[in-house]
Amino acid sequence: MKVLDLRCTHGHGFEGWFASSEDFESQLASGLVECPVCGDTGIVKLLSAPRLNLGNAKAPQEAAAAAPVPATASNVPADISPEARWMRAVREVLAKTEDVGDRFADEARKMHYGETKERGIRGQATPEQTEALLDEGIPVMALPIPAALKETLQ
Ligand SMILES: [Zn+2]
Repeated sequence: MKVLDLRCTHGHGFEGWFASSEDFESQLASGLVECPVCGDTGIVKLLSAPRLNLGNAKAPQEAAAAAPVPATASNVPADISPEARWMRAVREVLAKTEDVGDRFADEARKMHYGETKERGIRGQATPEQTEALLDEGIPVMALPIPAALKETLQ
C-alpha cells in the first residue's frame, strides 16, 4: 500500500491510497483519481515527504518567558541522560508557568512594560514574534517541548 500526497489544479491537497505507484499512474491516466474537494482530475503527485513539516519555520513554536524560569540543576541526579534532564527541565517550566496560549507575545510585552504583574508565562509565538520580543529586550526563550510530554499535558 502506498500513500501519496496529491494535489489538484485548484491547490487542494489530499492523500491517495494506492496498491503501488504503477496503480496510481494507471488510475491517473484513466482519469480515475479525483480531488475529493472539487472533483478535479488534474492531479499531481507531490514529493513524498508528507510528514517532514516543510515550511515549518513559519509555524508557531512553543515559547516561554525566561523571567522567573526556575533553576533545575540542584535536584536533578547527575547520571540521568540529557534527554531525561531536558524533560525534567521542561516539566518544571510547565509546572511553574501560566499557559497564555497565543497571547504569549502580548502578555510578555505587557509584563515587560509593567502593565501586568510579573510572572512565568508560556505560550505559542511565531519565530517572528519571538525575534521582535528579543529585539525589544524582552527575555523570552524558545522551548521545544518534546511531543511525548506535550501529549500528557492536556
Ligand atoms: Zn480540488
